[in-house]
Amino acid sequence: MLPAADREIRLGLWKVHILHHSRAREVWGTWLLEELAEHGHRLSPGTLYPALARMEANGWLRRSGKAAHARARQTFRITTEGRRLLEALRRDVTELYEETVLGRDVGHRMKALPRSARGRTAREVTPPPEHT
Ligand SMILES: [Zn+2]
Repeated sequence: MLPAADREIRLGLWKVHILHHSRAREVWGTWLLEELAEHGHRLSPGTLYPALARMEANGWLRRSGKAAHARARQTFRITTEGRRLLEALRRDVTELYEETVLGRDVGHRMKALPRSARGRTAREVTPPPEHT
């Protein structure tokens, strides 16, 4: 059983991984379990398979019954809608990384700043005047 933090937060990150890999190739359960384990995420099949089914139900993945690999009973590829979602998620992940890891202020206040001011650290940027 996963700790609550994994269920609450990491499940979304794993789905980004799944979309990413299913964009480049056919994926299947055991392959994804091994891939995520390489990143240090040890999911159980009981977590992964329902997630894949929900992603399919949402129209982000398409299931193929034809096995691409001897160990694969069912494979998945990303759909057009899934690609669109992945593109949006890439922007989100980039912004999240810049803010939470690099410490850059890329939040709502930055959106109001000229392009030339973006990309600097929060300390270097003069915040815009408060709305009055
Ligand atoms: Zn990955």
